[in-house]
Amino acid sequence: MADEAAGPGGGQLRPWWFGSMAAIGLAAALVVGCNSVAPLEPDPEPGCPDAVLAGPEAGSPLTRGVTVAHASTGLDRGSRRLPRAGRSALMGLAAALVVGCDSLASQDPDVGCPGVTYPDWTTSPYVLPFPVGKEYRVDLSNCSGSFHGEGQPDEFATDFAMPVGTPITAARAGTVVHVEESGIGRELNNLVVVDHGDDTYAQYMHLVRNGAHVQVGQEVEQGDAIGQSGATGLAGYPHLHFVVTQRGWAWPYSSIPVTFSNTDPNPRGLKADTEYEALEY
Ligand SMILES: [Zn+2]
Repeated sequence: MADEAAGPGGGQLRPWWFGSMAAIGLAAALVVGCNSVAPLEPDPEPGCPDAVLAGPEAGSPLTRGVTVAHASTGLDRGSRRLPRAGRSALMGLAAALVVGCDSLASQDPDVGCPGVTYPDWTTSPYVLPFPVGKEYRVDLSNCSGSFHGEGQPDEFATDFAMPVGTPITAARAGTVVHVEESGIGRELNNLVVVDHGDDTYAQYMHLVRNGAHVQVGQEVEQGDAIGQSGATGLAGYPHLHFVVTQRGWAWPYSSIPVTFSNTDPNPRGLKADTEYEALEY
């Protein structure tokens, strides 16, 4: 911008220059804002990570082109037309970033139980309760109706639809405090309960008959195989009902909100009718 004072259009460059810099500043602020919302792990998926690349690359050539055009033509008209185009492009970029950020920041507006603060999913002590590389669909999630309705003991439970016999793994390390695997149909709910040692308990329900791989008193590490899914108890179809309870595990228990660290961003728990893959951890 050293030619600002030299060219005939120097005086008119100033408003454009400041306008564009403001747009660039806005874009930079949005990029920073997006980054604070974006996942910490490398994730080429939607929105702001791409915008980070697009911002500087789209902005710099435009700015340079404008300067060159002005210097080479020395025409007032040329120097004004191009800056206007550049300014429009930058404002467009800023608008795109606003839209992109909004879609990222406000993701899951109606996910999870209303008014509830969820623990940071990136540092959650819980992983998905099935082996790495597997992917299953969440049917009912938190406060998503039926037995998982708001105010119900299972308001923070999550249902993973999976075929009978699917391997279930420990979402978090702990000690097995209860095992039931004698149920066949709807009369008895087969389950494994793991005490995490901090007055929270993970409950893995509807397991298939004789589908528990652990015994009471056994210690399990995160990711250890603990059983096989089924459809026993109040299960209308084969799925794993996963819930973490506090101050005991016996019905009617009190469930608490949990998030999972080894899958897609889930700042308000898992989303109903959505597939989640268990990633390395
Ligand atoms: Zn359920």
